Amino acid sequence: MRALVLEFHDIAPEVRHFVFQVPEVEQLHFKPGQFVSFSESLSGKKITRPYSIVSLPGGNRFELCLNLVHEGVFTPHLFSLQPGDSIEMSAPLGFFVVRDPTREAVFIGTGTGIAPFRAMAPDYLSHPHASQLTLLFGVRQEQNIYYRDDFEALARKHSNFRFWPALSRAASSWTGRSGHVQAHVLEAIGERRDLDVYICGLRAMVDDVRAILKGLGFDRKQIIFEKYD
Ligand SMILES: Cc1cc2nc3c(=O)[nH]c(=O)nc-3n(C[C@H](O)[C@H](O)[C@H](O)COP(=O)(O)OP(=O)(O)OC[C@H]3O[C@@H](n4cnc5c(N)ncnc54)[C@H](O)[C@@H]3O)c2cc1C
Repeated sequence: MRALVLEFHDIAPEVRHFVFQVPEVEQLHFKPGQFVSFSESLSGKKITRPYSIVSLPGGNRFELCLNLVHEGVFTPHLFSLQPGDSIEMSAPLGFFVVRDPTREAVFIGTGTGIAPFRAMAPDYLSHPHASQLTLLFGVRQEQNIYYRDDFEALARKHSNFRFWPALSRAASSWTGRSGHVQAHVLEAIGERRDLDVYICGLRAMVDDVRAILKGLGFDRKQIIFEKYD
């Protein structure tokens, strides 16, 4: 199938939020947290890359959050797309979805690794027996807290949702958490060892957080992760 670009806007320098439509279906079926794969022939070679869906299921539209990797093979092409252009895509796939039954959970994402959580957080909170959810979101600067308004609105609506951005290059005016997410894992899980931790982002962070959790006695089945590289 093909995905048609309806619109996009930049949500931070070199980070773009896209709205796509799949005209050939009425309903695009997926679970919050899943990804689509885009393919394109570039310099005579077919290149495929997966991207997490940042929106909830609804009709034949879906949204993505893309980071421009300057030296990357594929993202410069994605950033050249204009409304009306289309790209080959696969049906949504993936196991990085909220577990059923839900348990108390911590979501940990860095950079565009926030993408699946923008769909999974409202999905988690809509479960009838939703417990406490903490979203720990690591970025460099305040301008990189993508979807901040959405997460803050969600936290106002659900008293069992805590939104914790952490800045690794915070300005002196920042009064929130600073440093890498790794420094805040223990605070997020507290004394509990019976919760599920979902991690998404680049390999180095995911591996660090997994090692911290294993050191704290977490079973591997409680650690659900998606690596972007
Ligand atoms: C399941 C899954 C879901 C993904 N979802 C997203 C998403 O929602 N948004 C998104 O921007 N990317 C996402 N990615 C990463 C994406 O698939 C590509 O790897 C990324 O766009 C780089 O492709 P490229 O061809 O431009 O770079 P390549 O030529 O493949 O170069 C890869 C380099 O880019 C770095 N890199 C990969 N992803 C990122 C990133 N997001 N930010 C910064 N550096 C990166 C890698 O560390 C590596 O050094 C996802 C990856 C997976 C496996």
